[in-house]
Amino acid sequence: MTHRERSRTSAYPNKHAPGAAAALGGATRVAAVFGDPVEHSLSPAMHNAAYAALGLDRVYAAFHVTSPMLATAVRALPALGILGANLTVPHKERAVRMMAKLGAEARMLGAVNCIVNRPAGLYGDNTDARGLERDLNGLGVALADARAIVIGAGGAAASAIVACLRCGASEIVIANRTAARAAALVRRLRARLPRAMRGAALGVRGLEALADAGLLGRAAIIINATSMGLTSAGFARIDYARTRRECFFYDLIYAAQPTVFLRPAIALGRPTADGAGMLVNQGELAFELFNGFTPPPGVMRRALWERLGRAFDGP
Ligand code: NDP
Repeated sequence: MTHRERSRTSAYPNKHAPGAAAALGGATRVAAVFGDPVEHSLSPAMHNAAYAALGLDRVYAAFHVTSPMLATAVRALPALGILGANLTVPHKERAVRMMAKLGAEARMLGAVNCIVNRPAGLYGDNTDARGLERDLNGLGVALADARAIVIGAGGAAASAIVACLRCGASEIVIANRTAARAAALVRRLRARLPRAMRGAALGVRGLEALADAGLLGRAAIIINATSMGLTSAGFARIDYARTRRECFFYDLIYAAQPTVFLRPAIALGRPTADGAGMLVNQGELAFELFNGFTPPPGVMRRALWERLGRAFDGP
């Protein structure tokens, strides 16, 4: 444990024996996730594992909040003394306008995935890009001066683009079904990216680009940031065999089994990862924002890995 970690953990407001789940009481503090749907969310398992490991009288709950109720639910956070709330589909973009203050990351991405209930007002942040960047670094994906292909043009794609730029990519090709949406995303990002990240080339293509041998042959990473493959329906045609042997395939979707996007890459022996690592990392960052201290190393990852039926590979 580093000095910084020791000094942070000493601030844990311990209430009961570490390792035991809290019995809810009058003083229990609450953190939350709002989404529609939200029943599938694995965030409660991760956050509650960290609270239990620390012996904290805190609980993280999932709330099914529909779009018409979002403003009411967000306004209720200070009234109910809720520590903070994660936002998932479809609330991230709309919540931007509901914050008293926006962090630089949320402003750049145009989306909030983390609301912190601060005395001065609701603070909106976004931990998705940092979560993916941390995962790519942890996986040893080398992107310095490299070409990345990001499939998709929604909020997740924006986070993937920013993560690749931070990892040093010099060219990013955004391939999306609706080219106009990808062009709008690039315009928005160009206007908001910090100066240091504006030098990279950002290009826009349709999904036919995924069968372009010239484009694929020079890609260091291909990231799926769409909801394609979330159900059993097929994926856009990708000419996997045209990619380099070391080309990394990363799917923001995570599942117990390899995803539709990753399966052909695995069959060819390409390096792959799904979005479980990104989910853990954004969750750890959110935990720190809500509680003011870091979660114990590996606890949230172990909880997620257990839920996904995977062998735990260490923090
Ligand atoms: P959005 O709804 O904003 O964007 C969806 C994207 O998927 C768009 O680019 C859309 O294309 C594309 N798409 C959807 N269906 C199809 C289809 N049938 N054929 C082709 N393209 C399609 O979603 P988000 O950006 O918020 O999220 C995308 C994915 O990322 C989700 O699956 C989400 O679960 C995952 N995610 C994972 C995270 C993690 O921590 N691992 C964090 C955040 C998101 P078009 O523009 O043409 O409609």
